[in-house]
Amino acid sequence: MEQISIIVPCYNEEEVLPLFYAEVNRVAGLMGEYDFEFLFVDDGSRDKTMEVIRDLAARDGRVKYVSFSRNFGKEAAMYAGFTYAGGDYVAVMDADLQDPPALLPEMMAAIREEGYDSVATRRVTRKGEPPIRSFFARCFYKLMRRISKTDMVDGARDYRLMTRQFVNSLLELGEYNRFSKGLYGWVGYKTKWLEYENVERAAGETKWSFWKLLLYSIEGIVAFSAAPLAIAAVTGIVCCLLAFLFIVVVVVRTLVFGDPVAGWPSLVCVILFVGGLQLFCMGILGEYLAKTYLEVKGRPIFLCRESNAEPYETK
Ligand code: UDP
Ligand code: MG
Repeated sequence: MEQISIIVPCYNEEEVLPLFYAEVNRVAGLMGEYDFEFLFVDDGSRDKTMEVIRDLAARDGRVKYVSFSRNFGKEAAMYAGFTYAGGDYVAVMDADLQDPPALLPEMMAAIREEGYDSVATRRVTRKGEPPIRSFFARCFYKLMRRISKTDMVDGARDYRLMTRQFVNSLLELGEYNRFSKGLYGWVGYKTKWLEYENVERAAGETKWSFWKLLLYSIEGIVAFSAAPLAIAAVTGIVCCLLAFLFIVVVVVRTLVFGDPVAGWPSLVCVILFVGGLQLFCMGILGEYLAKTYLEVKGRPIFLCRESNAEPYETK
C-alpha cells in the first residue's frame, strides 16, 4: 500500500493538537486505500506540546515525532519533516487547522489522475488577518514577482502535497537560509494550485509577529533575487552623473558671475545625501554578505533532541 506522510510543524500548539489529530484522523479514515504517517515536528515548544505528541504516539503507531533542541523556526521544522518523512507522497500542514486536511483527497486525485507532481494551495481571501499585514504581504509578492525569476504566488500557503521525487529534489537544496515558497518554485515540476477561503486558527495564537514577518520577507528577497545589488549600483551611477552635471553648472556659474563662496548649505545637503546613500548601499551589500557568512559556516539546519522516527536515507 502506498504511504502518505503528513508533516506538521508545531511550536507551542498544545491547545490545537488534539483538534488537529481528530480532524486529520477522520480524513485518513476516508482515504482507506493509503497508509498514513503523521510526522509531528516539535520546534522547541515551551508548553506541553511534546507531552501531547508523545501521548498520541503511544496510542497510534502511525504517529511519529522529531523534537528539536530549541526553536529553529518553521522553515527548519519543514526541512526536518522532509528528512524524516518516509512516505511515497508527502504533505506539509500547519497544526492550527488553517490548512484544511479535508482537501487531501482532492489533492491526491490531482497527483494520481491528472499527473501533477505537487498540489499547492493558495488562499484567495485574507479574512481575519490584520489589514496592515495583508497590505504588506501583497506588496511583498508584487515586488518579488518583479525582481525574482522564481515564481512566487500571492497568498500561497506552505500547505502542499508532493511526490517522493519532488521531496527528494527539495532535500538537495540544503541551504541554511531557507525560504520555502521560493524553493518550491525553484525546483519546478508540474504544480496544480487549489484555491480556498482563508480559515482562522482553530485555537491558540499566531507565532508570527509583524517584525518576524518583515525579517522573513528580507530573507526571501536576499535568497531569491540579486536585484537590490543592481539597484545600488544603478543609484550610484545616477548620483555620479548628477554630480558631474552639478560640477559643470558650478564651474560655469563661477566663471560667468564670479561667486565663489556661496552654496555652503547646499553643499552640506549633498554631502549628507550621498553619505546616506553610501551607507544604504553598504547595508544592502552587508545583508548579502551576512547570508553568505551564515551559509559558509555550514551549520546544521536543526538539531534533534528526541525522535521515534528515522531519517529517510537510512530506511
Ligand atoms: N511554527 C513553527 N515554528 C515557529 C513558528 C511557527 O513550527 O517558530 C508552526 C506553527 O506551530 C504552525 C505553523 O508553523 O503549525 C504556522 O504558524 P502560525 O499558525 O502561528 O502562523 P500563521 O498561520 O499565523 O501565519
Ligand atoms: Mg496559522
